[in-house]
Amino acid sequence: MMTCKEVLDFLSSYLDEDVKQEVAVEMHKHIGMCSDCRAEFDTLTMTIKLYRHWEEPQMPPSCHDRLVKILEIEKLRSKRGPSTSGSGA
Ligand SMILES: [Zn+2]
Repeated sequence: MMTCKEVLDFLSSYLDEDVKQEVAVEMHKHIGMCSDCRAEFDTLTMTIKLYRHWEEPQMPPSCHDRLVKILEIEKLRSKRGPSTSGSGA
């Protein structure tokens, strides 16, 4: 079973579709049981979806405002803990 830290470390790679199948499966297992990670996962997934949508030409301005707010929240949230990765060299 992955730890919360591992799940969060993999999350950005996961959203880039840059993790192995078995890693994704382990993440889903953890997310299914851990509400903290699920909340994080949902927020980031939504952010990425909006971001990708934003790159399409017909994005209404209201979505843009919402996305900016979400990204600001994410920035604040990411400040909360010690740096994301960097164990080992
Ligand atoms: Zn967790």
